[in-house]
Amino acid sequence: MAYDRNNVFAKILRGEIPSQKVFENEHALAFKDINPQAPVHILVIPKGAYVSFEDFSAKASPEEIVGFTRAVGEVARAQGVAQSGYRILANHGPDSNQEVPHFHIHIFGGKRLGRMLPKE
Ligand code: 5GP
Repeated sequence: MAYDRNNVFAKILRGEIPSQKVFENEHALAFKDINPQAPVHILVIPKGAYVSFEDFSAKASPEEIVGFTRAVGEVARAQGVAQSGYRILANHGPDSNQEVPHFHIHIFGGKRLGRMLPKE
């Protein structure tokens, strides 16, 4: 799947639409999800143009992967959920219901999160 430069997270990265930023480093930006599903619900995105984890894991440089991964941990600590626990989640492709085609990791926390997946 080709990267769509007009996806909503690309627009956030370019500053064309607002977001509630909580963290930024050279390779990653983190902001609050517009429709939070837990008391803590943060999205961490790489600054590079990657459609999903599939794309990022295959093509990102080691520096991007390290910068992005460190950002996820740092955001979780800054949000105060490193002790209580949190869940990270990344959707890729149709079976996952990925909505925004720019790779992102969700960080959920601040409450008991229950089962990983709903019962069939
Ligand atoms: P996905 O299903 O692609 O893994 O998740 C996309 C997430 O992006 C959803 O949780 C949705 O609420 C969030 N989202 C969609 N549009 C916006 C937006 O314009 N701003 C922010 N902050 N989050 C968004």
